[in-house]
Amino acid sequence: MAGALAQGCAVKGGSRPAPSSPTQAKVAETLRAAAGKPPVVWLQGQDCAGCSVSFLNVEQPSAADVILDKISLRYHEPLMAGSGLVAERALRETVRAGGYMLVVEGAIPSADDRFCMVGGRAFREILEECAKGASTVIAAGACAAFGGIPGATPSKGRGVAAYVKNTPVVNLPQCPVHHEHLLATIVYVLEHKQVPELDTHGRPLMFFSKTVHDQCERKAAYEAGNYLNDWNNPAQAGWCLAEKGCKGPVTYSDCPTRKDNGGVNWCIAAGAPCQGCAEPTFYEEMAPLFAARTLARGKAGLA
Ligand code: SF4
Ligand code: SF4
Repeated sequence: MAGALAQGCAVKGGSRPAPSSPTQAKVAETLRAAAGKPPVVWLQGQDCAGCSVSFLNVEQPSAADVILDKISLRYHEPLMAGSGLVAERALRETVRAGGYMLVVEGAIPSADDRFCMVGGRAFREILEECAKGASTVIAAGACAAFGGIPGATPSKGRGVAAYVKNTPVVNLPQCPVHHEHLLATIVYVLEHKQVPELDTHGRPLMFFSKTVHDQCERKAAYEAGNYLNDWNNPAQAGWCLAEKGCKGPVTYSDCPTRKDNGGVNWCIAAGAPCQGCAEPTFYEEMAPLFAARTLARGKAGLA
């Protein structure tokens, strides 16, 4: 946060007076520390900020360590302390310098730019402008990757790759993005100077090469034909959730092994069927999310 604050103040350059308060001293210190760190710009389009919240849940290292010590976060609307013209100028300065990593959260409306305006400008324009000078674009979360929930609205939200043509795009779907996927991808790109190996949907194979179903702890129940149809029946605890609309068989992600909240739990272990949030067809074609298998079969391809 202070990194973003520092950038917001940095645009005033040499005319800025010497630090005279603890806060200013901290900003100056953060500015000095930011020198040489990889610059990151984080844009938000049609989003709920859930992917930002997920990023803040990163544990090792902590989000504060990442933001303050590992990267130079130049622009992030909810996290930066700077605002208005100061923040926008910080963004312009960073874009002019180029060579930054661009993280995008949220979809881009394809039906009409007016569905997503930031500072009086179409978000689409801002994205296209920022993507040109970026070394890599990371589409964080289902909305930025493939349109997600905004894709099912009249705005017809679409993913970043539909608007970014000459910069590598890495898609990290899931609703929200898994913070470990995001952090590991940032580190990979910084270390290897290239994006990781991707599947045909632009997702890193290191996270998205197997179906949820093939790694699921309830697969034995599936194969035994034990399908849960009553969440209130203790005898069905641990049974396969296919009858409750589980999209695990058609969804590629490492959720069953990576899990959430520091490995404490994940969707299916918590009794919720996979909603297919890592797939390009989420949300529109995965809905209704909790439909019985007979209803979902035609859409999700469940047997
Ligand atoms: S259908 Fe869903 S709950 Fe059942 S085994 Fe596959 S992934 Fe697990
Ligand atoms: S289990 Fe399914 S719904 Fe849950 S996060 Fe993974 S892909 Fe998304």
